[in-house]
Amino acid sequence: MNTPTPAPARTFVVDAETRALFEDVVAKDRPQLGDALAVVRADAVPAGALVLGCYPDGVSVEDATPAGAITHSDPYTAAPVPYDPACDCVGCTEARGWSGPVITLATETMWEACDPVPAAAPVLVRLAA
Ligand SMILES: [Zn+2]
Repeated sequence: MNTPTPAPARTFVVDAETRALFEDVVAKDRPQLGDALAVVRADAVPAGALVLGCYPDGVSVEDATPAGAITHSDPYTAAPVPYDPACDCVGCTEARGWSGPVITLATETMWEACDPVPAAAPVLVRLAA
């Protein structure tokens, strides 16, 4: 068996430039979060990380940077679960048409739907401390 090596997480220190980009989530008092942002594959997002944004189709984990993210206006805490195609929420319904593996990063978000994401897609997170 030749198991593909998962792409390592790429971490970015929260410097002044990054702080300005994510002022709402970085500057707020969130003591449970550490000082690093990370770009990881969706299926490698750790529970407890704050999900800040995703990337356009075609962007790989290797290419993704904090500045290139499509940021969520309402970041949420990741609680990954297997994608449930039987779920009737708007997020899961849309994901039924996708090819390839899908992971649900959270079932409780500010927009009252799950957030299913292609398993290999890059996701920008702020890691738990
Ligand atoms: Zn759902």
